[in-house]
Amino acid sequence: MPELPDVELYRRYLDATSLHQPFDHVEVEALRVLEDTTPQALGRRLKGHRLEDTRRHGKYLFATLDSGGALVLHFGMTGRLEYSRKAHDPPRHTACLFHFGNGGQLAYVAPRKLGHVALTDSPAHFIEDRALGPDALEIDWDTFRAAAGKRRGGVKSWLMDQQRIAGIGNVYSDEILFQAGIHPKQAVRDLDDDELRDLHRAIREVLTAAIEAKADPEHMPPGFLLPHRGEGGRCPRCRTGVKKIRASGRTAWYCPACQPL
Ligand SMILES: [Zn+2]
Repeated sequence: MPELPDVELYRRYLDATSLHQPFDHVEVEALRVLEDTTPQALGRRLKGHRLEDTRRHGKYLFATLDSGGALVLHFGMTGRLEYSRKAHDPPRHTACLFHFGNGGQLAYVAPRKLGHVALTDSPAHFIEDRALGPDALEIDWDTFRAAAGKRRGGVKSWLMDQQRIAGIGNVYSDEILFQAGIHPKQAVRDLDDDELRDLHRAIREVLTAAIEAKADPEHMPPGFLLPHRGEGGRCPRCRTGVKKIRASGRTAWYCPACQPL
């Protein structure tokens, strides 16, 4: 599932391929992905206009338009972008196909149709409306510490709560907790300042390393749990077999020796 590192890579991809070219028209193949807009409204708003800039907040990608406002992309469980300089048959599962006036096309591909394409007058208002927490790469120590204060529940589900911290999902929460040596079910309110510091540092280190590795498990640093996260996997530090548990409805992988409860 696309998490912050994946979306950051899509943002860079959009920057490298799709800025400063006027849109011609949009083909919507999967109505379900449109959020609070219609194919007609989307087409009208984009036609003749260009994307000028991009920004990311958590798992949301905003591409600002020369006419004001922004195109909003969220990638659900499996979404991605695919640009081509020339118009041709779009990739399978294309949900939205953006045609540019110069003949190029940008496919928003969503095999499970769980992502969203939307328009907003202001990314800041969009973020506020959804009550998203600070971006996981931007959150400073004081905000992080205050957000953790007296929180009920386990640390994994807290890290994944987009209204607390935006951008972390199932896979990277496991990696962050592994790097910080914290059990996924540890109660947030029982974490002391040293543990919170480790956790805050691990968020930044893990997400930054994952972006550098192009979010490819094969290219993660050698001490990462991610490539070993599965049946038969062994902890890259101590070689103990990794274990899985259910944590707030999701599967968490962890090392029982390095992350004691
Ligand atoms: Zn271990």
